[in-house]
Amino acid sequence: MQDLKSEQSRNGANHFENVACPFCGILCDDLEIGPSATGLKVLKNGCPKSVAGFERPLVEANPQIDGKDVPLDEAVALAAKLIRESRLPIFGGLGTDVDGMRAIMKIAERGGGVVDHALSEAQYRNFRVLQSSGWVLTTLTEARNRADLFIIAGSDIHEIHPRFFERVVCNEASMFSDAPPKRTVVFLGEGLDQSAVTGKRIGEIVNLPCKADRIGEILDAMRAMRKGATITGDTIGGLPRAAVEDLLARCNAATYGVIAWAAASLAFPNADLTVQAMSEFLKEINTTSRFAGLTLGGDEGSPTAGSVCAWQSGFPLRVSFANGKPEYDSERYDMMRMLAAKESDLLLWLASFTPDLSPPDTDVPMIVLGTPGIKLSRTPKIYIPVGTPGIDHAGIIIRVDTVVSLPLRKLRKSKLPRAADVIASIEAAL
Ligand code: SF4
Repeated sequence: MQDLKSEQSRNGANHFENVACPFCGILCDDLEIGPSATGLKVLKNGCPKSVAGFERPLVEANPQIDGKDVPLDEAVALAAKLIRESRLPIFGGLGTDVDGMRAIMKIAERGGGVVDHALSEAQYRNFRVLQSSGWVLTTLTEARNRADLFIIAGSDIHEIHPRFFERVVCNEASMFSDAPPKRTVVFLGEGLDQSAVTGKRIGEIVNLPCKADRIGEILDAMRAMRKGATITGDTIGGLPRAAVEDLLARCNAATYGVIAWAAASLAFPNADLTVQAMSEFLKEINTTSRFAGLTLGGDEGSPTAGSVCAWQSGFPLRVSFANGKPEYDSERYDMMRMLAAKESDLLLWLASFTPDLSPPDTDVPMIVLGTPGIKLSRTPKIYIPVGTPGIDHAGIIIRVDTVVSLPLRKLRKSKLPRAADVIASIEAAL
């Protein structure tokens, strides 16, 4: 975390240094942001995603009921009435900061509803493994400072986190050595962008193109080989057997290896078994070496939603308060399944980071608390524009490795309210 004092404006009230970026899960905290004719401009250390987020023009939209502008208190009063009268409301989307998520947990408890994040489906590919058999994970900082071998597994990390390789893999300095060893980066998967893996720190780049849904097979075979099994056949998981043996030899020789994946990229049936195969390999190789997993992704505040839900209810997302106490069921309280099965009669959707986190196309009445310009396929019953944490108001957000929370700053004058305050007002009117 950066020293807050160093964040003081150097060149004027609208010039900010060491800004944390909330537009993907790795939360780079070194951006420099200044003013522009239309709002804000990323001056240094940006990427296409952060530019799209910070430079989005400020639109002071109005609350609406059935598409018509209304005062905020009218929209709040009707939202409270709908929640009060709902049989089983869903509080979904949940693209918000810690305060916003705490407010959601409170209103879900009072309103007897279900909480689920828009990106839970991907998160559950990881959660299921964590819950059933556990894993060995590292953090961005550990990986950046210690790893000599990175395996990028089936995930186009450069697209998801445009600065991941720059900040975590290609960094020339290390906390533990003045002359850190070169790194090997293995791309295990097809069509993965390798263009950002450059610089003095990079030794070898190894390309092992295989289908993402065969990575589990490869890791299972490597685990078996470590235990002394003989694998016959010329190929393993679509790769030449010699390539897999070479990968295993690299893993055995590494002083600190890291397998990195983004669960959202493993979008095929039973992908949690692929995560499990990686996790079991990590456990096996840790009997003689040092190796860890690094889960990436975490856009739209999903690590924040999962963490706050776990702190307050004892469970990750997909928790129901319908019975007056937290009840956890990862299948039953899957928001998308519930909407498809018409088990809910009201959806409150919260998306405060980007206009792209659209609510599902459902005929269930909707209350949308969204960033102005949020893409909607139909007019919601109620729309309340909210500010973006880290631009319109200050906040706290959890990084994808869930070991660090970062402060977000208010960077511009904006009348857009905090989602946490709007939700608290609705809750007060319940
Ligand atoms: S990589 Fe992610 S956190 Fe870093 S600047 Fe880009 S969008 Fe922001």
